Amino acid sequence: MTAPTAPIGDRLLSVEEARAAVLAAIVSPTEPEVAYLSEARGRILAEDLISLTALPPWDNSAMDGYAIRSVDVATATDVDPVRLAVIGEVRAGTAPEAEVERGSAIRIATGAPIPPRADAVVQVELTTPADAAGIPSGERGRDAAGPLPPAVLVHEAVQAGTAIRKAGDDLPEAIAILAAGTRLGPAAIALAAGSGNETVRVHRRPRVGILATGDEVRAPGRALGPAGIPDANGPGLAALAEEAGGHPMTLGIAADRLEDVRSHLKAALHGDLDMIVVSGGVSVGPYDVVRAAFAEIGRMELWRVAVQPGKPFAFGVVDRPDGRRTLLFGLPGNPVSSFVTFELFVRPAIRRLCGLPAGRLVRSYDRGVLVEDVSKSPGRRAYLRVVAERDEAGAPIRDEQGCVRVRLAGGGRGQGSHVLSALAIAEALAIVPESVDTLPAGAPVELWWLDRD
Ligand code: AMP
Ligand code: MG
Repeated sequence: MTAPTAPIGDRLLSVEEARAAVLAAIVSPTEPEVAYLSEARGRILAEDLISLTALPPWDNSAMDGYAIRSVDVATATDVDPVRLAVIGEVRAGTAPEAEVERGSAIRIATGAPIPPRADAVVQVELTTPADAAGIPSGERGRDAAGPLPPAVLVHEAVQAGTAIRKAGDDLPEAIAILAAGTRLGPAAIALAAGSGNETVRVHRRPRVGILATGDEVRAPGRALGPAGIPDANGPGLAALAEEAGGHPMTLGIAADRLEDVRSHLKAALHGDLDMIVVSGGVSVGPYDVVRAAFAEIGRMELWRVAVQPGKPFAFGVVDRPDGRRTLLFGLPGNPVSSFVTFELFVRPAIRRLCGLPAGRLVRSYDRGVLVEDVSKSPGRRAYLRVVAERDEAGAPIRDEQGCVRVRLAGGGRGQGSHVLSALAIAEALAIVPESVDTLPAGAPVELWWLDRD
């Protein structure tokens, strides 16, 4: 249980205080479930993943060539090659049928098991196929696939162990290869599969209900009439939730009436949601009923954060009769405000529920420098939408201190909390501290890239 964190008073909470209160309300990550690897990309391991086989499982060839005994070719040179009798072949996917005796060779393909008593593979490029008498019968280096020649000429000495991949040299069997809390990217999926795993235990994707509010907000495709606007937040927040690792579920659009918001929320609670993200209606206007609805179905935990945009951010919880908890996020309706408060508070909560560790909840910071003057509201931390200056190769330009040169997305007018067009081109958020009212061009800022984990 969380103690209400200085809620509803006159002091605005800092971003850190508000985020700490949100994360403290998360009792545990979602429960583990089994997922096939084909559905596991981006999921978070709920337990250490164990290798079910050594890799490689047996000694195998790193080259197309001939499995030999290195002593046999110790004197081989370009002009005076050594002739070996070719006594068989091992293809990838087949087990060797013979041993390599002194003076003999077995043709072998990359990835095929090394036959007994061979201690090296000589690559095909260093060989020439020959007849039984040792007369060349084909071109040097061209015999990886043709009919098996009776003999082969080896043109170079090779050390014992050459071109042999030893069993277990990549990984041994039965060790932890990926730790609980790891996010499964493509390479981790390949490692899981390559070590013999067909499934993984990952945390269930948190179910995220998305509810837009506003008498003026219209579902996609609906006529706007004289006073309607299309719903930008519903689809935008659903996309953000999915990208953060959640499973978004749309709850539609509620009118600016307490009963309507409440009944949408109540109906949603039957859906076993881990959180509900509501946009609009959390400010101080007469029709801003979302906080009252949160308080009726659950408990308000905090309201109002010293942030720009996004000050009216609200957060509450419902402890459900089934013993589970649903988090309630109230984001301001302006699309940019809802986007920024999602980044600051909702995304970390989804990632925590997904099972990511505490250090991985917010995006990593970079250093930037503003190339123009900016001003902001005093006492609030601003998250400016910015784009990086780029060189001809398309790389962000950094100054001598290594700071990325950034300018305001959409120019000065792009910073309004309703300006979707500037949000859509922004590459990063530039953070201006509470204590500052204006920043001159050339001032350093913290940068929060929007496409970095
Ligand atoms: P509110 O937070 O309800 O006061 O809304 C602030 C501004 O955001 C108003 O101009 C609303 O019309 C606008 N707005 C609210 N919800 C949405 C939405 N789902 N899509 C686009 N704009 C919205
Ligand atoms: Mg509204």
